Amino acid sequence: MMEWLNPAWSPNFYSGQNDVKGIVIHHAATTSIEAVAVTFSHAARQASAHYAVQNDMVQQYVHEYDGAWHAGDWWANTHTIGIENVNATGEPDWLVDERTVETCCELMADIAYRHDLYPLKRNENVWGHKDFQATYCPGVLYDRLDWMCDRANTIYYNTYVEKEDEVTNEDIEKIAQRCAERVAESAYWDVDKKAEWGAEGKGKGGYIRNSYNVMRLVHDLLIKVNAKVDALAAKVDALKK
Ligand SMILES: [Zn+2]
Repeated sequence: MMEWLNPAWSPNFYSGQNDVKGIVIHHAATTSIEAVAVTFSHAARQASAHYAVQNDMVQQYVHEYDGAWHAGDWWANTHTIGIENVNATGEPDWLVDERTVETCCELMADIAYRHDLYPLKRNENVWGHKDFQATYCPGVLYDRLDWMCDRANTIYYNTYVEKEDEVTNEDIEKIAQRCAERVAESAYWDVDKKAEWGAEGKGKGGYIRNSYNVMRLVHDLLIKVNAKVDALAAKVDALKK
């Protein structure tokens, strides 16, 4: 379970300039979460991130709707939430404890829920720092980003999906409405992003984002419709008896 420390607000951010489209994973290059807060508290360091995690602890430095100075890239700094994973060991390995990774995945699921990013997918709405800037960061976590997305999606599913035991017609209508909106959006989205990112944008998985999300929504909708049909069939059976 995430244990939230008191926030340590950083002076280093772009006020109100974060239109959240994804998450960037970092390693902190330190073994102390307190040291992260100290670094981000200095304006002269010109660095920040939204969160750091260590073991069960989570600490926030920048509001999610403000752009943190974490990725060395204008688009990423104004469209993503940055999470620092505090290391378990220093140079040269910079390992990260599994409990820290788990807390990071819980936080990713939490962010996905609040910003409608589910399902999380590498290069689509989750990146490593080095995807935006020439850096070693996020170190050992870079090769685990697919795994971390899967784990965060499982946490999301267990937390936010399975508990919806009663499927109402309103739920189904809401999802159908979102499907329709996403289909309409996707007509514009690819064209916009192609202009903005150019051919390299494909590396960020941008061009398939909407069609993928629409398919996920349709998939989720079908599961709910199916559950509804099963529930009604069970009621009919009960009435027969
Ligand atoms: Zn980084």
